Amino acid sequence: MEQLMEQYRQQLIKQCEEGMEGNKKIKVIEINMYMTNKCNLYCTMCPFISKDYSNKTYFNKEPYFATLKDVKKILFNKKVSGKRQEYVKFNFFMGETLLNPEIFKICKYIKKKYVNSEIVILSNGTIPPANEEIVKYIDILGFSLDGGTKEVFEAIRTPAKFEHVVDTIHKWVKARNKYNINLKFRTSTTLSTLNFMDLPNIVRTVGEVVRTEGGDWDSIYCQPVVIEDYQRPELRKITLEYVDRLMGKKVLEETERLAAEYSIRLDMPQAIYEMFYHETKIDKRDEQGGVERRCFCEKLSNGYLSYGMNGKLEFACCFMDKKYWYELFERYQIPDNKNPEEIYNSRGYWQLRKDLLEGKLQKECRNCTIGESNYYNILEELRRKNDAGSE
Ligand code: SF4
Ligand code: SF4
Repeated sequence: MEQLMEQYRQQLIKQCEEGMEGNKKIKVIEINMYMTNKCNLYCTMCPFISKDYSNKTYFNKEPYFATLKDVKKILFNKKVSGKRQEYVKFNFFMGETLLNPEIFKICKYIKKKYVNSEIVILSNGTIPPANEEIVKYIDILGFSLDGGTKEVFEAIRTPAKFEHVVDTIHKWVKARNKYNINLKFRTSTTLSTLNFMDLPNIVRTVGEVVRTEGGDWDSIYCQPVVIEDYQRPELRKITLEYVDRLMGKKVLEETERLAAEYSIRLDMPQAIYEMFYHETKIDKRDEQGGVERRCFCEKLSNGYLSYGMNGKLEFACCFMDKKYWYELFERYQIPDNKNPEEIYNSRGYWQLRKDLLEGKLQKECRNCTIGESNYYNILEELRRKNDAGSE
């Protein structure tokens, strides 16, 4: 298996070399844009917004709300063509998107202009629909739900109120049932020692919303908390490494049981299962090359580009250390003024992918669990292929 994995990695590296020569292309299928840098909360573990920030914006910058005019300008300048009938997904997940007063108009415009587009919004669940008909123009609406009980939820997502958020989610589901039954809902949970034990209650909370209102719930997505080095040092102790393994395993089993009972898909990174189900992890080091396996990741090939408030490229991967978000584009001389496909297939971007595969971005990726999950998934896939081949 080790050998197969190495062959696969070499194959990906070869593709990067072809890309650098202009002989391989990846399509951009997902565009992330800021609708605002403002949030009405200051969650305990938030790497962007602190209760000490007077503006309650990312890194306390001046508040910004994208207008429809701004969105049109960015899409025009970035040459995101609306003529093509191809699929493109628009992701709005920075700040609290639903605070934007023009969000209805923006979603409506995008859905009209990009006929095969999908709009995905992640909200903190505190904003009820100002105009219920907005659900006609959203395809996936996610809510951050970091607790399934008042006590846990409110200790993390300050100063939101648990009952208000649950009530708001009910309102959105009612609007979905009335205007757009195709709209999918998700919840997203950032797991830490503060809420890991509450995970079954999160499933119960979502399950009860679905039982009451009817319809489906797409998934409950979980990701491990990441604490940046500029955050309060005591927060390092809330990462999943500090959850008792045996207890964690029981919590995961109970969570899975409940998710099955409510028929809700649990979207849990493989690395979290590995953390609680296996005592020893796969050796991080490659015998020959010294490659850091946890950085063996295909994330930079997933067709995703993120634009900041002024249309500037934002990050290659949002899980990377935030210090390097902008710097990487400069270091690799990735052009900012081209269309999405040209940016994504520029020589610099392919070099960045190659360096990631060769374990040269360990500082930028740190101990990223998402990348590690990707590694496990690739391994699993190779195992499956191998088993099928030997039958
Ligand atoms: S809701 Fe999101 S952006 Fe707002 S403070 Fe919480 S984690 Fe940060
Ligand atoms: S290893 Fe993690 S941080 Fe690095 S590119 Fe992959 S997902 Fe992003």
